[in-house]
Amino acid sequence: MNLSSPISEIPKLNKPQVAAFKKLGIETARDLLMFLPFRYLDFSKTAKISGLKAGENISLEAKVKSISSRFSFRGQVSLAEAIVSDETGSIKVVWFNQPYLAKSLKPGDAIFLAGQPDYYNFTLQLTNPIYEKVSDFPVQTSRLVPVYHLTKNLYPKTIRNAVRDVLPLANSIKDILPGNIARSQGLMAISEAIQLRHFPKNLEDILKSQQRFNFEEIFLNQLLIQKQKIQLAKKGAFAIKFNQKLVKKFVDSLPFKLTDEQRRAAWDILQDLEKPLPMNRLLEGDVGSGKTLVALIAALEAISNDFQVALLAPTEILAKQHFETAKKYLTAYKTHGRELYKPSLLTSSYVQVGEKEIKKAKLQALISEGMPGLYIGTHALLENKVKFKKLGLVIIDEQHRFGVKQRATLMHGSTKVPHLVSLTATPIPRTLKLALVGELDISIIRQKPAGRKTIETRLFNNLSRKKAYQFIETQIKNGRQAFVITPLIDENPASENKSAKNELENLRKIFPELSIGMLHGKMKSKEKETVMGDFLSNKIQILVSTSVVEVGVDVPNASAMVIEGAEHFGLSQLHQFRGRVGRADYQSYCFLFTSSNEPTQEITNRLEAFCKIQSGFDLAELDLKIRGSGQLFGQEQSGFDYKLFDPAYLNLIPSARQEAKKLLLDDLNLSNYPLLQAKIKDRLVHFE
Ligand code: ADP
Ligand code: MG
Repeated sequence: MNLSSPISEIPKLNKPQVAAFKKLGIETARDLLMFLPFRYLDFSKTAKISGLKAGENISLEAKVKSISSRFSFRGQVSLAEAIVSDETGSIKVVWFNQPYLAKSLKPGDAIFLAGQPDYYNFTLQLTNPIYEKVSDFPVQTSRLVPVYHLTKNLYPKTIRNAVRDVLPLANSIKDILPGNIARSQGLMAISEAIQLRHFPKNLEDILKSQQRFNFEEIFLNQLLIQKQKIQLAKKGAFAIKFNQKLVKKFVDSLPFKLTDEQRRAAWDILQDLEKPLPMNRLLEGDVGSGKTLVALIAALEAISNDFQVALLAPTEILAKQHFETAKKYLTAYKTHGRELYKPSLLTSSYVQVGEKEIKKAKLQALISEGMPGLYIGTHALLENKVKFKKLGLVIIDEQHRFGVKQRATLMHGSTKVPHLVSLTATPIPRTLKLALVGELDISIIRQKPAGRKTIETRLFNNLSRKKAYQFIETQIKNGRQAFVITPLIDENPASENKSAKNELENLRKIFPELSIGMLHGKMKSKEKETVMGDFLSNKIQILVSTSVVEVGVDVPNASAMVIEGAEHFGLSQLHQFRGRVGRADYQSYCFLFTSSNEPTQEITNRLEAFCKIQSGFDLAELDLKIRGSGQLFGQEQSGFDYKLFDPAYLNLIPSARQEAKKLLLDDLNLSNYPLLQAKIKDRLVHFE
């Protein structure tokens, strides 16, 4: 066999098993070697029979003294029973439903057994242990035993045996990591990493092997990133002149004072814009910290220098909202009688310049002619036909992997690289920040605008619902508005969750004099917009909504929020919801209800903690502790990989970056490294 041989050539595999492997994407010996275990069973502890204790995971080397099989429980279950012994004693072993076993094991056979002894009828017994005949290379017992993802017709035993059969072929896998790099980083060869990953001798083997795989992955990524960076730097960016008078005028015209950190962030950005090197900056700030205004200052600056600016939002609601904000703050600016500061909107349902609706083709033409201005939109902005001629700045709201790809798409054939600012409310852990040093600059807005009060947050028992409703009614009588968040759109009879539709009916009965509207993700854009418009103008007083309001929606007059089924949301998500209120000076409130009348202690603790903690950064940390890193950024929009929160992984980034840079310095096109070249070829984002 060689690496490309089909696995059907492995002697002991039958047809259904080969088919099952195929389902897992495994067809060749190479595929099988690359099918890595996701955890291990620790049977490395071997014991003697006399020393066995109940409930302990152990391996045993013993001789079969007797073995027989019979049917039990009215003939429905086959039972194999054996007595095995070593020099210290003997123990009974029972296997259920493995009738063939009594035929393959015979008295006198030396075997390994792995499992947990337990008491049965007051005697210690091993039930359903893994067994394996004694050999030089045990793979099922007496070691760290690999565990693979399974599928129908594939047993753990089958996979382990098959992997063992092809394992020597690992030696012919070519290392794509240059040898000198592996050596200087103290990494093992890929062949060794593969072998140890499947059958490690100890924990250190697993970690070292994992490190080899991780380094290769990071190194390849870094080759891409650094190569692109070199190309971008060669192209250069437009240097956008700092127009201090204009910025001052803009800031003075605002109905509020910018916070110090907003000023600081704006300053960072304006400084970067002046340089002929492409800016790559992340603007990180909790919900409601006022990131949009900072972005608008940067946009104003670029537009006043006759550049085009693209602002990319994740949803239509948000794009529209940014558009309204931009119109409100920017339209007043006129230079030379031109309508430079009239923002444009481009989404699948809107094409507008200022108030005027125009044809999509017309807007595309204006863009490709190079009309300066702010172009706000969703992914519609990324379409092929949108060809910016003089794109100076790209702003990405609620990042998609820091927006680097989006920028590349927006560039098309442009001669220069636009500056890039990504806005995010997601707190970036310190470890990741360190790993990103040199990749991207970060500005942080920690404070909220002055006058914001803490949002009084309370967990309500369903029995005191009435009290909460009375309170909300008073708020609305005082001119305020309220959100009601529900986990579902339609009633699901199988679940206790409140649905938006049901809740709408319900609230209309409870508050017959109030006007109540509904918003959910399945509505058409025009409908959504009408509802949002009515809510913004206070025609709707209570808005029942699913999680679509999560990101960014801004209605400063809303002061109360009810979250139904709060236990279904993560802390960071609840924080995003809560951030929809308290966006002006009014004292604001957030009331939590659970679907279940008797939530578990765990749920109560989590929600009580949420009531006490106001900082998104602290909540994210708590979320991380409670739910594990994989959950924290579970939202698709975050675009994060959970590995990015594993310090063992992150710590490899700086050295991988250094090696990648060094290699590219000698050989930008990787001509001397055909394996590397082939590997990154299809992953390269093209800038030309
Ligand atoms: P986010 O950072 O969550 O995107 P926004 O930019 O939407 O926050 O701002 C939240 C609200 O705060 C908006 O209504 C905005 O007009 C207002 N705002 C922004 N900066 C200030 C400030 N310095 N003082 C008072 N209100 C502000
Ligand atoms: Mg925002």
